[in-house]
Amino acid sequence: MKPSDLLSSLLPPAARPGDLLSAVDSPALLLDLDAFERNVRQMQAAADSAGLALRPHAKAHKCVAIAQAQMRAGAVGICCQKVSEAIPFVAAGIPDILVSNELIGEAKARLLAALAGHARMSVCVDHEQQVEQLAQACEQAGSRLELLVEINIGQDRCGVADAPAVLRLVEVIAQYAGQLRFKGLQAYQGGLQHVRGAEVRREAVLRATERARLVVRDLLDEGIACETVTGGGTGSAAFDLGLGLYTELQPGSYVFMDADYGRNETADDGLRFEHSLLLASRVMSEGTGDRAVLDAGLKSLSAESGMPWVWEAGSPSERWDYVSANDEHGILQCRTPGGAKPRLGEQVLLVPGHCDPTLNLHDAIVAHRAGRVEAVWAIEARGLSR
Ligand code: PLP
Ligand code: MN
Repeated sequence: MKPSDLLSSLLPPAARPGDLLSAVDSPALLLDLDAFERNVRQMQAAADSAGLALRPHAKAHKCVAIAQAQMRAGAVGICCQKVSEAIPFVAAGIPDILVSNELIGEAKARLLAALAGHARMSVCVDHEQQVEQLAQACEQAGSRLELLVEINIGQDRCGVADAPAVLRLVEVIAQYAGQLRFKGLQAYQGGLQHVRGAEVRREAVLRATERARLVVRDLLDEGIACETVTGGGTGSAAFDLGLGLYTELQPGSYVFMDADYGRNETADDGLRFEHSLLLASRVMSEGTGDRAVLDAGLKSLSAESGMPWVWEAGSPSERWDYVSANDEHGILQCRTPGGAKPRLGEQVLLVPGHCDPTLNLHDAIVAHRAGRVEAVWAIEARGLSR
């Protein structure tokens, strides 16, 4: 027997359609379909009523079935953060993908140019060397790309500083008119997405996007119109909608809402998303004193944005905390000394601290409704980080 046959014969999927949720093998990612569908609809409706395009970020889910649900709801396309991440989505027929990031090197340019032979592809640039490599790759592949110049609006990650720098790149792009087209700007500020206070976050969004507004104005003065201005995330979306700056929003985490986003305050006029993503774990050892040991640690959930929440009856547990993550173990602690612990073998549900890197740890997500498994979706772009 080949090792791969042994794996599939001895290790079935964590769940099958029709299974009871309580019987799902652990650790396994769960998706509450009702909450997920409400999240998808709410963000789409908000973008629609503001007259903006929605291009959800697939870096959060890496899952074709989820991207297809977003497209059915009205998304214009999706974002990917890495060029290889886009491959399964292109293969599945998603027609329009923005790689919302810079890429450098001939291998990546060749890959993107090849993908552009199958779907409408766009990508960010902040240096002429990237533009030249992309043009060369497109010429060889016989394909075309649309470019967004990224501007730095305060995250100090990628992006050029000002309108003159954008103009210089627009001129370089214009030299390759057979291969490349200037589509507009990307202005994303990740640092403010998790500012906890709603009004402090609103102010931070206004300040950061003012820089983008000035660049758009200066470009217009030079006769350059931006067909697209894209940006925004789950934390800023409610405020981005009405700015009159963006033509397109690219939030990702709203489909799931991790514990980090759960700590954000929602503005009175804000968007209220639900926690649809859970990790099913199990008590694997009784542990000592007020502690119990779960079978889910750092190889099943990401904890760099904080520990997961223990989830009971649709809310954060008032009895137990997940206090530390080892590689394969998680430590659960009773809040009150001597309090009841979950039993050995009992399922314990967790809201992951940070959704994107958590999805990257799993092959599949178990989609459920009313206590039953409805589908098991592959996470096709898991591990595709080139
Ligand atoms: N756009 C870009 C460029 C990002 O880097 C991210 C997240 O890191 C997003 C959009 C989506 O943000 P969120 O998942 O917080 O909605
Ligand atoms: Mn994230």
